[in-house]
Amino acid sequence: MAAIKGHCACGKVSYESSAEPAFTGVCHCKDCQRHSGSAFNVVIGVPTATLTVSGELKSYVSTADSGKQSVRKFCPNCGSTILSEPEAFAGVSIVRVGTLDDTSWIKPGMQIYCEAAQPWVSLGGDMQSFPKMPG
Ligand SMILES: [Zn+2]
Repeated sequence: MAAIKGHCACGKVSYESSAEPAFTGVCHCKDCQRHSGSAFNVVIGVPTATLTVSGELKSYVSTADSGKQSVRKFCPNCGSTILSEPEAFAGVSIVRVGTLDDTSWIKPGMQIYCEAAQPWVSLGGDMQSFPKMPG
């Protein structure tokens, strides 16, 4: 597996981890659509303790529909979202796959918040699908 290594659009923020991702998934929720400006987010779960970030990240705190808080961290210069730290996943950073240098090994195992998916989105591959959060 390739190392987890990536950076924002302008390069002021970079990160790496040698951990195995806890999961790889697609999220169709409305917050992910709004943050990304696109139809869905593709993310990996990386143990926060293994993640080294260089450069300054700005934080934005929001409340998920579960009532729990999530901190989204992005480059203050170019605005690229690098990761989020949801209260619901203590100790796990949800890293945005689009910021990775090498995405060739990425294979989402699940898609969540399918009930909010754009009606024309139909993703290929062998994925578990959940209407909201799994479990
Ligand atoms: Zn940047």
